Amino acid sequence: MTEFTLPDMVRRIFEAEAIPADAQEMLSGPQRSLGVAVPLRRDDGALEVYPGWRVVFDTTLGPGKGGIRFHPGTDAGECAQLAFWMTIKCALMELPFGGAKGGIRVDPKALSPLEVERLARSYVRAVADVIGPDTDIPAPDVNTDARVMGWMADEFSQITRRHQPAAITGKPVCLGGSEGRTAATGQGALIALDAWLKRQDRRPEDTTIAVQGFGNAGAHFAGLAHDAGYRVVAVSDSKAAIHAAGGLDPWRLKTFKDEEKALSGAVYAGQSVKDRNGDEEIGQDALLALDVDVLALAAMQDAVTEDNAGEIRAGLVLEIANGPVTPEADRRLAEDGKVILPDVLANAGGVTVSHLEWVQSRTGDYWDADTVRERMTRRMEDAARRCYEQAEAADSTVREAAYTLAIRRIAEAISSRGDRS
Ligand code: GLU
Repeated sequence: MTEFTLPDMVRRIFEAEAIPADAQEMLSGPQRSLGVAVPLRRDDGALEVYPGWRVVFDTTLGPGKGGIRFHPGTDAGECAQLAFWMTIKCALMELPFGGAKGGIRVDPKALSPLEVERLARSYVRAVADVIGPDTDIPAPDVNTDARVMGWMADEFSQITRRHQPAAITGKPVCLGGSEGRTAATGQGALIALDAWLKRQDRRPEDTTIAVQGFGNAGAHFAGLAHDAGYRVVAVSDSKAAIHAAGGLDPWRLKTFKDEEKALSGAVYAGQSVKDRNGDEEIGQDALLALDVDVLALAAMQDAVTEDNAGEIRAGLVLEIANGPVTPEADRRLAEDGKVILPDVLANAGGVTVSHLEWVQSRTGDYWDADTVRERMTRRMEDAARRCYEQAEAADSTVREAAYTLAIRRIAEAISSRGDRS
């Protein structure tokens, strides 16, 4: 199992910022880690039980917030690590949330749509006592989407016998979800990238991008970047990678995957980006080493490690997934003069619109797509500016700058709360 350990960088920030001992202690590990058994009745009548977790790392700034993933590699340590990143992300974005994460250790692609629905409902029954609009608010993550959140929200309202749409975000719009939530992570990543390039006087038209990962976040990022004038020259998914020096049309690839899903009723697309139109196929590892300006990492954690960091040729790495660059690779890339726009900033568009959804679900006042986009753009641009200015002022990496801003904010709130022992 992966054990949670506080990153060395955080310890350095504690020291450099003279963070009080109480706050250091409070942030040294998760506040609560709940392990549950998630029973699933398979379509053939057999019962299987999968392990699941919901971890709240910190709630100083507000209720726990973070997604739920269905993945065969998930465990308690991974959830704690991801919950820590959510804590930093929410603080950096100045949202009234702490950080949490949950998951089930399962390969959901081996399940039928009805089995995925029963599994999602079973998970909510297992964690119902610890989630809620003022305690801990789940959302989508790897292999969970609006459809899965709709089932979870329905199960929670049945258990509590109350309509409580604010207990879960990322729901379908017809169930109290927010306009713009599905595109939000990809859109936020593009805002962070635009803001960085503008500071360097660089234009989208002169910028090439390779995208690793073509799930919800990667596909929306690729499509929106293409619309904004960037040249997306390569994309990959879990099965293949394709490359076209003149540029690809990501929306066509996305439509193809979406149509196939809609036709089959599947929760997960069976088709790969490579099955579309005969674009040149390259190795998935070769995508990481392409000579492009921006490498967008939108697949999973640990995509770039000590072993392959030396092969990266892009000058800028955009972390759309959580933790796609290991700490060792992070150091190596910095030594090589590469800039990393870190996950806690680059993928924060998702939780930012989750916050807007939570506000709408609590008040019953729902906004149009333009209002949501405007509010999330303002918050993303502001956070990006604060990070880039802090990095410049301290001559640090953008990740260190983002963590510094977040830790200052949490530590101040811990001190303001007084003695909680
Ligand atoms: N799973 C997403 C993340 O890692 C979104 C979390 C949320 O919306 O609460 O940021």
